[in-house]
Amino acid sequence: MAERADALIIGGGVIGASIAYHLTLRGLKPHVFERDLLGSGNTGRSAGGIRAQFTTETNIKLSLYSIAFYERFKEILGADAEFHQVGYLFLAVSPEQLEQFKARVAFQRRFGVQVSLLTPDEVAAQWPFLRTDDVYGATHSAKDGFAGPYEVTIAFANAAKQRGAVFHEQAEVQQIVAEHGVARGLQTSIGEFSSSVVVAAAGPAIPALVKPLGIEVPVVPYRRHLFMTETFPEIPDPIPFIIDSGTGLYFRKETGGIMLGMVDKSDPPTFSMNVDDAYLEKLVEAALMRAPILEKANILNGWAGLYDTTPDHHAIVGSVDEVKGLYLAVGFSGHGFMHSPAIGAALSELIVDGAAKCVNIDPLSLNRFAAGAVVEETNVI
Ligand SMILES: Cc1cc2nc3c(=O)[nH]c(=O)nc-3n(C[C@H](O)[C@H](O)[C@H](O)COP(=O)(O)OP(=O)(O)OC[C@H]3O[C@@H](n4cnc5c(N)ncnc54)[C@H](O)[C@@H]3O)c2cc1C
Repeated sequence: MAERADALIIGGGVIGASIAYHLTLRGLKPHVFERDLLGSGNTGRSAGGIRAQFTTETNIKLSLYSIAFYERFKEILGADAEFHQVGYLFLAVSPEQLEQFKARVAFQRRFGVQVSLLTPDEVAAQWPFLRTDDVYGATHSAKDGFAGPYEVTIAFANAAKQRGAVFHEQAEVQQIVAEHGVARGLQTSIGEFSSSVVVAAAGPAIPALVKPLGIEVPVVPYRRHLFMTETFPEIPDPIPFIIDSGTGLYFRKETGGIMLGMVDKSDPPTFSMNVDDAYLEKLVEAALMRAPILEKANILNGWAGLYDTTPDHHAIVGSVDEVKGLYLAVGFSGHGFMHSPAIGAALSELIVDGAAKCVNIDPLSLNRFAAGAVVEETNVI
């Protein structure tokens, strides 16, 4: 016989763990199913960046809620998120980009984001290791920063467990069970579980899991790399999370070394997480161009993970018309770690109270694609 639970969550990444924690705050005792180990998916491969410098109201509000949560993380969860508010620095490398940056800053300030526009001279004075002769300006928000994705996931999971949630690791969900348009439970590698609430939070795996239910989720996996250098005191702590909007290069400090990544928009969709050495060559070229001192740095290791990407770079969060009781939390398009506190809080409100109050997540519904109500997030890293 199937074991009964208040709610069943597929995926033990930061999103599943946050939803589990927030559901326990509202009196539910969910079960979470993770086919591998908690945080071992894309969460554990993330750069941990947290920023409010987005271009849509929804993403900005998700960030502001989440940043306030990260600031009080230890007080709330009793564990350290390793949150470092070093700021995010976006560099504009053309007059057109600078105009876009100015418009973004005006928009972000409407929602209370503390963000400033810097001149190339100001950038050069504060971060002299950056090449700025091709920089037209920059934006900087001191409240942005980064935290530890694994630490945050485990903190959510531990707090949820203390309140009665159950986490099953090495437990793969094989099928979502629904009858007559109503969620009934899950078939998993460790048995059957029944519940009228099922939350699909397993990243790029979700489209294939919900397709048999007649639900099309427009999420495509793109591989993203990160590389670490050995300890590099030549660029002293702290530096912001720096993004070169020309090449897509980004980097920050991590435990004394430099963590580097780059968005290559020409990459085709793939489920492969193998490290591509050709990619490292492109990244090193972009890095030396922006911070020539990195010539002295040695690459220590690298890894790759997947962005579960939607057409408008907004997540898909909420209920679905096809199956009552089934909720999606997927398609985070590279910003799921930072938004995990807000997503957990808002989705738990939707599940328990029927409406999300802390942040309006209506614009994240799957329906937006069919309804043509799509607003694109353009500041994607
Ligand atoms: C290189 C890289 C850098 C990134 N940098 C940032 C950043 O700076 N800031 C930021 O906010 N975000 C960043 N992201 C994105 C971020 O990692 C994701 O948005 C976030 O981790 C999503 O969390 P998740 O829980 O949805 O997914 P995941 O962490 O992937 O969790 C989903 C889990 O579901 C499990 N699963 C899959 N199928 C099944 C099944 N059938 N049964 C049971 N379990 C299953 C997987 O094993 C996995 O652990 C980055 C991502 C990458 C790849």
